[in-house]
Amino acid sequence: MITTIVMLILICLLLGIVVSATLEHSIDMWMSSEYDRIVYVSNLYSRGGSSMISDLQAEDTAFVVTDAQGNVLEEHGTNTCVIQGYNVSILDSEGVKDITVYFDRDNKLLTVDKYGMTINLNYAFMTLFVPGESDALFKGGSAEFPIWIGRPIDGGNKIFIAKSNLFITKTDVLFFTVMAVCLIVLFFVILMILVIKIITGISNQKKLKAIFFNDEVTGGYNWTYFRVKGEQILKKGSNAKNRFAVLDVVFVKYRNYCVCHSVEEGEKKLNAVDQVLRYFVGKNEVCGHYASANFAVMVRADNEEVLRNRLNDLMNRLTSIDRVHRIAFHIGVAYVDPDTDKNGNFIKRRDIFLENDYNNACAARATIDDSDDSGIAYFDDKLVEEQKWIDSVQERQASALANEEFMVYYQPKYNPQSETLTGAEALIRWQSPEFGFISPGRFIPIFEKNGFITEIDHYMIRHVARDQKRWYDEGLSCVPVSVNVSRAHFIEDDLAEQIRDIVDEEGAPHNLIEIELTESAFFDDKKALVNTINRLKEYGFAVSMDDFGSGYSSLNSLKDLPLDVLKLDAEFFRGNADEGRQEAVISETIRLAKALNMRTVAEGVEVREQVDFLAKQGCDMIQGYIFDKPITKDEFVQRMNGIGTPS
Ligand code: C2E
Ligand code: CA
Ligand code: CA
Repeated sequence: MITTIVMLILICLLLGIVVSATLEHSIDMWMSSEYDRIVYVSNLYSRGGSSMISDLQAEDTAFVVTDAQGNVLEEHGTNTCVIQGYNVSILDSEGVKDITVYFDRDNKLLTVDKYGMTINLNYAFMTLFVPGESDALFKGGSAEFPIWIGRPIDGGNKIFIAKSNLFITKTDVLFFTVMAVCLIVLFFVILMILVIKIITGISNQKKLKAIFFNDEVTGGYNWTYFRVKGEQILKKGSNAKNRFAVLDVVFVKYRNYCVCHSVEEGEKKLNAVDQVLRYFVGKNEVCGHYASANFAVMVRADNEEVLRNRLNDLMNRLTSIDRVHRIAFHIGVAYVDPDTDKNGNFIKRRDIFLENDYNNACAARATIDDSDDSGIAYFDDKLVEEQKWIDSVQERQASALANEEFMVYYQPKYNPQSETLTGAEALIRWQSPEFGFISPGRFIPIFEKNGFITEIDHYMIRHVARDQKRWYDEGLSCVPVSVNVSRAHFIEDDLAEQIRDIVDEEGAPHNLIEIELTESAFFDDKKALVNTINRLKEYGFAVSMDDFGSGYSSLNSLKDLPLDVLKLDAEFFRGNADEGRQEAVISETIRLAKALNMRTVAEGVEVREQVDFLAKQGCDMIQGYIFDKPITKDEFVQRMNGIGTPS
């Protein structure tokens, strides 16, 4: 569009130049020839003086002779000259000539001033278009417009000024008038085109904006708008000293909501969320729908308390969009701090990474992913450290396994009555060359998420089986050792066979290996689980339910699952609950296990009275710090040899 406009302006300018140059050239040529004529006549006058008057009259030239000061010395013909000369430069075939021109009192068309000679356009139009004026002026086809041209004579003591008539025909005037009108029309056409282009440009821009920035689902703004507008806000000089917060707002379990109601209903809810957010954001703030149930929001965060209050308020508004069903939202918050120079002065933000900031907000939000309740999580350095830790663990996991950096620790289980060793649980430790000794809480959850846990489970089973085989061969008083098998592993159909094969490869007796399943695994496909447990038992492995009572009630699972051992979670023995109630729950659980032909293991026992109580209730084993922490292989061998055993 710009090139078209520039082209049109150039054409207009060019035409203007051509017309005015043509006009100027015609006048210059005429003046040049008139000047030559006057030079000739003035020479005659100089040579002949008054004797030449009759000749000069024959030349039909009115003239005036003045002295250098402009006083009239002599006049011929009618003197209508205004004796005030203007120097004018004209260009003819011989080059530039400077001549002195005088205005004629009767000449209404041409005016002379110090800038040169100009045409009185008003008068030109008048004479052309006002019939009476025109006819009077153009008597005989052309009109006469006198000016006077002067030149010094007698060595500059006198000035000879002679009258010269410019004859202009109606066609001349018409030609130049038409040219001028054309120019004006062209100018207005260009102006119109410009205006139209600007208007259509603005409306096209609006349409484009609507296409690019509109979100199809919510009808509000989309992610692109959020980014463009957000960056504009952050870049503004007036916002240089302001702190902002980028939020990731998520409708928790949106897909479930759509399943229960309908996708259409779900989208209506997203629309309502969008409206709440748009109402929530103020000046210099922005929001947009990211994707699915995620919304990106950027708000001012200069005052921490104000922000927290606003977010709580936002959460209330969001959860109130559905008053019939319970809906929840998670909000992740990441801060965008102001930029400063090396002296600590605020500077306009240059490098803006809104996508990274939003990603950080998402990372903060992901920390509360597991919860179904509404919540707000803030991104901080701990989270960055956490992410770095996850990355380095994942980077090293394979080599750590290959280099046998993972070690098996054994936590003994004792009979509470006899306080003799009756079993143990194998617990993993990581002896890393870079990070040192690491407890499972720091890496097992990472492996559970990335699936590496199945390798770990195999590794532990193999090492425990290997140890048991050696100890058995050495004639030690071996006890069953339980190995944790993660929930992720239970999806595999042939899990029982995998375990059997590993144990067989190492040659350990099956009755020395027990498999611990976590309670949460029991939520999955129950039929498959029962099948796997039955096959494990068939192969001679005992199967235990770990952490019983820690999560949701799994009494129902107990009914269906043919388990051998029930491990009471450490939580049974913690907290400030009423002692009577606590003991009632523990004793009844043990009774229930017995009724189901299951042995019981109490985990996390740290207090002597609890041992006594458990012994009285007939609990089969105790695994807790009161007797032993998880210990090394060598220490465990000592326990089997009766060294360091409580009794
Ligand atoms: P878990 O299977 O429930 O293991 C018992 C945890 O309780 C162990 O922590 C143990 O040291 C701790 N414990 C035992 N008695 C007491 C006590 O009296 N007081 C206190 N405060 N703690 C006690 P650990 O070894 O840190 O293991 C933590 C969790 O890591 C385990 O919980 C298990 O879920 C997982 N884990 C450990 N090793 C493995 C493994 O080889 N495979 C799998 N899949 N998970 C493992
Ligand atoms: Ca366990
Ligand atoms: Ca446990």
